[in-house]
Amino acid sequence: MRTFEFSRAADVGQAIALHARSPDTVFLAGGTTLLDLMKLDVMQPAHLVDIHKLKLDQIDVQSDGRVRIGAMVSNTDLARHAHIQQHYPALSQALLSGASTQLRNKATTAGNVMQRVRCGYFRDGISPCNKRVPGSGCAAIDGLNRNVHAVLGGSKDCIAAHPSDMCVAMIAIGATIHAQGARGVRDIPFADFHLLPGDTPWKEHALATDEMITHITLDAPMPGSRSAYLKLRDRGSYQFALASSAVIVARDGNDIRDIRIALGGVSTKPWRARDAEAMLRGKPLSAALIRDAAAASMAGAQSYGQNGFKILLGQQAVARNLSRLVA
Ligand code: SF4
Repeated sequence: MRTFEFSRAADVGQAIALHARSPDTVFLAGGTTLLDLMKLDVMQPAHLVDIHKLKLDQIDVQSDGRVRIGAMVSNTDLARHAHIQQHYPALSQALLSGASTQLRNKATTAGNVMQRVRCGYFRDGISPCNKRVPGSGCAAIDGLNRNVHAVLGGSKDCIAAHPSDMCVAMIAIGATIHAQGARGVRDIPFADFHLLPGDTPWKEHALATDEMITHITLDAPMPGSRSAYLKLRDRGSYQFALASSAVIVARDGNDIRDIRIALGGVSTKPWRARDAEAMLRGKPLSAALIRDAAAASMAGAQSYGQNGFKILLGQQAVARNLSRLVA
């Protein structure tokens, strides 16, 4: 049995100070990823800093229309918040499509952003996996890669898909991650937070080792917009996306005034389809335009064998979601 030190922080400053005691320290929030990976012996932190007691569980609508979400707000509380349901339906739907009720009650907003990949080779603790053991190889590229592996954003060193539903909605909405560390506070655009695997797949995000997320700010809702999250998966609940989309669209008559499209399940990070958005913006809606934009949203996708069907499924996720929103 592995032993580890356990500390409990009363405030953010104390959490950061406790974290500095050992380079092998991790923050414990909901624990829905971390405790699993510790039980599997995939993560072996020497020191856990429990941040349950931090007063970071508020959702505040600001005077400029943006929404400030504390890092410790549970996925359930965020999904069920009246302002989120009314003004950010894609976010509420994405959260409620993830995991199970029990997990959503424990999982936190910051923890959702920080969750790790579901690749079976990463989690089995023995297979070649560059993310777990740098330089050991990637068993998934020529292995079992149907379910939780990406066709967008992969590299020769890692093709694990980012597993979050919430993050797909957030990158479509536009958001800022606020971090605090020993050197002060820092704002990170949501789109820059998650990193492509490249040749360093163990580097997953833009946080420094001594930083923690304190809150996330959503951009103000797009005026006059409708939004939805569509998740395509093998079964109707408690299952990761094979392909998903978050779409936010505002129209002037039959013309698309503005639009945001993001994809999940098909990409190594939450994926914004900016070329598809540009193709649609300012244009009159038609079935042909939706089809072409859906194809553009998956431009550059690469099949690794079993997961090749995701290239068409990702297009379906975009086309069906947008078609329903404008029907
Ligand atoms: Fe590891 Fe990534 Fe390859 Fe999975 S896809 S085995 S996480 S390197």
